[in-house]
Amino acid sequence: MQVGTGKSILNGIAIGKIKVYKKKDTTISTAEVEDTAAEIARFEEAQAKAIEQQTALYEKALNEAGEDIAEVFNIHAMMLEDDDFVDAIKEIINGQKMCAEYAVKTAGNNQAAVFAAMDDPYLQARSADVLDIAQAMLDILQGTDTQSVQGTEPTILVAEDLAPSETVRLDKSLLLGFITREGSSNSHTAILARSMNIPALIQCKDITEEWDGQMAVIDGYNACVYVDPTPDLLKSLQKRQQEDRKKQALLQELKGKPNTTLDGKTINVYANIGGIGDVGAVQQNDAGGVGLFRSEFVYLNSKDYPTEDYQFEAYKQVVETLAPRKVIIRTCDIGADKTVDYMKLDHEENPALGYRAIRICLTRKDFFKTQLRAILRASAYGNVSVMFPMIISLRELRDAKATLEECRKELVAEGKKVGEVEIGTMIETPAAVMIADDLAEECDFFSIGTNDLTQYTCALDRQNAKLEPFVNPHHPAVLKMIQMTVEAGHRHNCWVGICGELGADTALTESFLRMGVDELSVNPKSVLPLRKMIRSIDLSK
Ligand code: PEP
Ligand code: MG
Repeated sequence: MQVGTGKSILNGIAIGKIKVYKKKDTTISTAEVEDTAAEIARFEEAQAKAIEQQTALYEKALNEAGEDIAEVFNIHAMMLEDDDFVDAIKEIINGQKMCAEYAVKTAGNNQAAVFAAMDDPYLQARSADVLDIAQAMLDILQGTDTQSVQGTEPTILVAEDLAPSETVRLDKSLLLGFITREGSSNSHTAILARSMNIPALIQCKDITEEWDGQMAVIDGYNACVYVDPTPDLLKSLQKRQQEDRKKQALLQELKGKPNTTLDGKTINVYANIGGIGDVGAVQQNDAGGVGLFRSEFVYLNSKDYPTEDYQFEAYKQVVETLAPRKVIIRTCDIGADKTVDYMKLDHEENPALGYRAIRICLTRKDFFKTQLRAILRASAYGNVSVMFPMIISLRELRDAKATLEECRKELVAEGKKVGEVEIGTMIETPAAVMIADDLAEECDFFSIGTNDLTQYTCALDRQNAKLEPFVNPHHPAVLKMIQMTVEAGHRHNCWVGICGELGADTALTESFLRMGVDELSVNPKSVLPLRKMIRSIDLSK
């Protein structure tokens, strides 16, 4: 068995025989020409045909991958008419008296090099698009055919690189996955593969022509390929592939469908995340938004206090990628089980009951304001809500809100863009439940953190494995607290969600719906099963 590693662009498994795709010899003519006007006409004819081809590819991509992706080929058509590009080609033909092939190749390479040298990774990746359209014109000028790269049986394609137009031309029914030596994760080829749901590995330097015809598995989860895998490994990856297929089938069944019960009650199903790394899972599982962004992971992943700009980027990336979906950012919940050295927090006898979360934020205002400013700045890029953890009093909620307002005023005075944010309170303590009416009057939503609510209601340390036998996740006291919270919230026009683990427990979904819970936010993997459950419930019975 051989193992090749690279960058995965889709979390999936592909199993099958490898076909190594060797590109045709791309030597191009370097002939000089006498009649430059005729050569310009040859070029213009190829340009017009290439534009027609891009339009046909647009139609194909539209059917297979959707509007956003197909747009790539509209952009290609525009690039083919770009004045700078066209002028550069004509200049080489007229000025250097060189043939159209040479002019297209040279101008294409030059423009691709300009893109490749840019700092912005998105613009860098456009270099592949320029090379792609130049190749399209070269194929027309030289009369070479680019279509028949696949055989007759489904295979994993291995290539040095694949252009977006090559990827979309591939017959999907014969394509199990692909591996390339080159390529970037922002390239349109990668974007296309993702949207067409094809497991693929890029930047795999290990590929060799000897792999041709061998059995292989692309493991997109671990960014590697196993060539000639051992029987045990093959079996376990086949199992994983089956699970993925089931999920895909569920996704196809549910995508775009509302989370509505048989008798017409709709509820939001969101996902819980820790950062940008989880956003793919939110999208892949078709969650309606993010109900809990555990922002403390931004702190846990830093060696020192994360700056406002660093946090702004971390939140903005998530918010922008998921817009217009709602992203609820929970302010820093450091302390108890989540500690970082640089904060130098004292050792405590009872950390779960200690100096944590909002308690730290309200006593270290500079620390809190750094985060709130970053969240408010990110709110200009999408649909952001903010919520405060571990609230036990109205005074705390008011203090947190006042600090948020202070930050907003400062940012506006500094001329920085900020959006509108809904404000929420996490209901994680019995104290918060008992004063839920008062809290609801002063915030837009509640999010019930059942993990901590269970811990504090039942006096069961959630970190202590020895207490497992005493844990009843359906403890009536906790369920009653949830019911009380929903009723209090609704009395004051405050919507109520659940973001603790209990939200994913499908044995309770019907009870939550009957209580009137407005939103369930669960780990991304639980989104689809939960949505399926909701759609099977009939509350009228
Ligand atoms: C909770 O307590 O239920 C919750 C969602 O927050 P965390 O698990 O991060 O404490
Ligand atoms: Mg909690």
